[in-house]
Amino acid sequence: MITHGYTETMATSKSHRLDLTRPNWIEVDLNALDHNYRLLKTLVAPGIRIHPSVKSAAYGLGVAEIARRFVELGAETIACGSLTDAEAIREAGDTNIDLMVFGGTLPSGIPRFLDLNVMPTVHNSEIAEAVSSLAKTPQRVYVKVDAGWGRLGFPLKTAEGAIVRIASMPNIVIEGIYTHLPFTDLAGATWAQERTILFNALIDRLKKRGIEAPVTQARSSSGVLLGIKDECTTVCPGSILYGKPSLAEGVIEDLGFEPVLSSIRSRLVHISPNASDKSSAGFSRFAERVAGATGVIPFGRKDGNRTPRPGLTSYAILKGIKVPILSISSELCVLDLSSVPNPRVGDEVLLLGRAGTEEITLAELASNQDAGMNDVLLMMRDRMPVIFRQNPATE
Ligand SMILES: *Cc1c(COP(=O)(O)O)cnc(C)c1O
Repeated sequence: MITHGYTETMATSKSHRLDLTRPNWIEVDLNALDHNYRLLKTLVAPGIRIHPSVKSAAYGLGVAEIARRFVELGAETIACGSLTDAEAIREAGDTNIDLMVFGGTLPSGIPRFLDLNVMPTVHNSEIAEAVSSLAKTPQRVYVKVDAGWGRLGFPLKTAEGAIVRIASMPNIVIEGIYTHLPFTDLAGATWAQERTILFNALIDRLKKRGIEAPVTQARSSSGVLLGIKDECTTVCPGSILYGKPSLAEGVIEDLGFEPVLSSIRSRLVHISPNASDKSSAGFSRFAERVAGATGVIPFGRKDGNRTPRPGLTSYAILKGIKVPILSISSELCVLDLSSVPNPRVGDEVLLLGRAGTEEITLAELASNQDAGMNDVLLMMRDRMPVIFRQNPATE
């Protein structure tokens, strides 16, 4: 479907079909994704691989389409957050893309990884044993080292012995050895650098014992942005590829990453033109708060919309005018349309994005809702369609 010189593709998953009875949707800018990938490439040394993270349904934006785009951009392996992400990619027909999953899973979940030809993370010996006993042919795995984040993986102290043991197990091929050291500020960067040195030393010791994985990896977005030094072959960024800052504001200058999420939209399904009329018998509960009409969009809490923190007002944009949100109930959201000339049923409403001089950013929305930027999208994911746009003129 071609509109306004853009190519539009609907997300392929069933839950993403456009529902005209509930016209809410998310728009994704694939050109921004391309731009971010190429910009990130300039920040890592030549020859270093980029394995993009598409965890949590590509941070809520649609995992199959985004993964395919990353492969077109040159990524050799895609890092999934769970088997759900990997399944969505396989179901979309991409059976050849190399996929790994960060984990954690139960050993009894391993057969599904093998069925889908997805590389699991071995984060404990139970997983290693499950892979080794269930795989019928050599199975590539990633081994995770806990270098201090304190979540999944073999602790640095015991990792060397564990990895030597795993390498000797039948039907296991160690494709990657990695760790995860996320941080948001300079103190965190110092911590991550110290831990990365210890991880490097582990990789060196393993090399001396004849164990060398094609992929070694310790840096995600923040590590790449702040140039944490490692001796790894690969980086594994997520956030920054989607144009979402992984570092606190002001830690580094703006490098020009662009938001891939371009807008969240809905349409007016109802208008109350006389909402401000205090004389009428049907005195609206909003009569004291508005000077004109109110309007309704079907974008309630079940769609992932959330009431702002006490004392704050959230906004939407209609016809280039910022309008206050009056209430968010489970199914619906009421807008103050006092300042909008001639609103009509069907008019498009922006909950996030830019129209004319007005803009609502993901950071604003998140801060208003007292949530993380990923959380805002995760609440909406799978609850409305995603439309992927690309402008051929900029390719
Ligand atoms: C989320 C995640 C990443 C990517 O992190 P970003 O901060 O989004 O770049 C990399 N590795 C692991 C294990 C992760 O969980």
